[in-house]
Amino acid sequence: MKQRFTGLGVTTGVGIGKALRAQVDLDKYLKTYIPSFVEDEKEKVDKALSEVESFLFDKAEELRADGRTEQGAILEAHAMIVGDPVMRENVLSKIDATGNSPRAVLAAAEEQAKAFEEMEDEYFRARAVDFRDVGRRIARVILGVPDRDVGDEPVILCGYEIEPSVIANIKTGQIAGIILGAGSTTAHAVIIAKAQGIPAIVGAVDAARAILDEEEVLMDGDTGEIITGPTTEERAVYEKKAKKEEKQKEHYLALKDLPAVTEDGRSVILAANIGIPSDMDFAEEYGAEGVGLFRTEFLFMGRDELPTEDEQFEAYKNVAEKNGDKLTIIRTMDIGGDKPLSYLEIPKEENPFLGYRALRVSLKRKDLFLPQLKAALRASCYGKVAVMFPMIINVSEFLKAKEFVDEAKVELQAEHKDYNNDVQFGVMVETPAAAMMADSLAKYADFFSIGSNDLVQYTLAVDRSNAEIAHLYNHYHPAVLRLVQNIIKAAKTHGIPAGMCGEMASDPRAAVLLLAMGIDELSMGAPSIPIVKEQVRRVRMDEAKVLLEKAFTFEDGEEVKRYLEGQL
Ligand code: PEP
Ligand code: MG
Repeated sequence: MKQRFTGLGVTTGVGIGKALRAQVDLDKYLKTYIPSFVEDEKEKVDKALSEVESFLFDKAEELRADGRTEQGAILEAHAMIVGDPVMRENVLSKIDATGNSPRAVLAAAEEQAKAFEEMEDEYFRARAVDFRDVGRRIARVILGVPDRDVGDEPVILCGYEIEPSVIANIKTGQIAGIILGAGSTTAHAVIIAKAQGIPAIVGAVDAARAILDEEEVLMDGDTGEIITGPTTEERAVYEKKAKKEEKQKEHYLALKDLPAVTEDGRSVILAANIGIPSDMDFAEEYGAEGVGLFRTEFLFMGRDELPTEDEQFEAYKNVAEKNGDKLTIIRTMDIGGDKPLSYLEIPKEENPFLGYRALRVSLKRKDLFLPQLKAALRASCYGKVAVMFPMIINVSEFLKAKEFVDEAKVELQAEHKDYNNDVQFGVMVETPAAAMMADSLAKYADFFSIGSNDLVQYTLAVDRSNAEIAHLYNHYHPAVLRLVQNIIKAAKTHGIPAGMCGEMASDPRAAVLLLAMGIDELSMGAPSIPIVKEQVRRVRMDEAKVLLEKAFTFEDGEEVKRYLEGQL
């Protein structure tokens, strides 16, 4: 049936395919299920638990061998839920009460899912789906419900939530798109979509409810538009766009090994922002010249205690090794406020973006900060590593962080663990205070990296995640441009490099202004690298300087934007 919906596009690109409802309707099986004696029901549960546990471990291994490491890790986590004795005890006691094993399994899983849903941290809330997924899988085995046969055609997966095992069961490349009713941008389905470049739309509640299995679906991850039962014309429009994207991707991938140099020979480093380990594959694919921002938060999430020094060391070493002689800039933990973790015990705050977060937490928590610094220092023996500190407003914070670095070095020496003494330490300039005081900070820092995402939100007083005021969030605002220029000027005066690792760096037109200001490095999501590179290779510095000069004559960010769109 022809219908139109909209949601929030979280990964770009067009998806065309037959809808695959992510959930089998278990109700009809449950209604006809006839339980046997209580002891038999318990036996069925034990049999199903061990069957599902070994299936999940085997499948996880298979996925890992196939290079689908994230899905592998998810299924392994599911296997652990299945093997957890608490889960089994809970199910057995529910069988004592109801006598029905599949219902007992579903109720136990639902109980655990609910407990997670009540957690404050969005990441943990998003994990509720894992418990439901596991519960349904065990119940399916008891009920004898066969696995879905998805054939070979491209599918658009849709559901309110999508169980990770559903995604894991489908071949890489067969998922043409993902539509989620839930709004979470950190759901597993979204993480996988981002890693694999699958178009994804979240918060599409009506679509997730209304789309029928096998229905033809068009979706656009850029606009959030979803069309079911399209007309021939609509399909043609989407097919044309998909073809164009495919061609564009080929074109951009072909730029991989070309240098990022302007027509008149000024070069700039184009590096990748990474968060999860598999992002490194994309960094390589798109020709990143290093990692300009390694967001280390993922190491702290999805767990109930701090990651150890060794766990962090392994992750940093892995990335540093892959980068070889290209620089890896590790950003120390930026958690707190808007994304609290239960074990950090951060009370709920009125203004989390202005609250207890990032370096503010690290400086108070030696148990957290020292292991991270030691791990990063140790990784420097395996590649070229630098470290930067987020959310700085005072010189004293940077100096205090450096004292921790000295302490970390003393501990490493005492423990006979190696590190390189020439690791550089930088300031992430992402608050207006740091931007205004760049001249002072530059005396102490080895480098600057401009965090434009936060710098824009704090300068303009526009919450970066509030869709209602998204039209006000503009990195061309003259106030932002002036601050950015001030930061780069200060870096030049003191002879330290200045880079940018916020989204502004991935905007090719902004990149031209930044070049004219004297930026040394631009770091961004890997797929943007060739797009920026193409622009860099097309421009001359005298042209860029004229554009910058003119940009500074406007009084409004929208005018600057329009002007650049007209020129470039
Ligand atoms: C930034 O603020 O620009 C940045 C790169 O850091 P994050 O997006 O992680 O806050
Ligand atoms: Mg930031």
